[in-house]
Amino acid sequence: MSVKSLNHIGIAVRSIDEQKTFYEGALGLAFEGFEDVPSQKVRVAFYRAGDVRIELLEPTSTDSPISKFLEKRGEGLHHLAFAVEDIQARIDELKSSGFRMIDEVPRSGAHEMHIAFVHPKSSFGVLTELCEPASAGQSHDG
Ligand code: ZN
Repeated sequence: MSVKSLNHIGIAVRSIDEQKTFYEGALGLAFEGFEDVPSQKVRVAFYRAGDVRIELLEPTSTDSPISKFLEKRGEGLHHLAFAVEDIQARIDELKSSGFRMIDEVPRSGAHEMHIAFVHPKSSFGVLTELCEPASAGQSHDG
């Protein structure tokens, strides 16, 4: 399996507003907008850094996976997301190579992407996401 590129870096934050002064103000990254991702109970702010996005993940509920992360580890790096082609085949490859997946079938993420997480116990402590534009999967069928 080989990934196409690093697509984005997810960062867990308590408050997107508080971090704006750093990412937008100090670093001068272009703010691209917000998106609510109900499946993960997060609000996401997108910043563009060249070909890579920075995604600030703010929990919208106390039972959000991001709330749990913040309680356990505090604010900081949450996950790396790699763009892949044929995400289900990549998941199956990882599983057959003995890696543990959080998502054995892709689910909907921000930016109309199909996403799947590799369990961090299988990926040496770094939560790793695979992502593929949702439109890519549909064109295979059509
Ligand atoms: Zn992500």
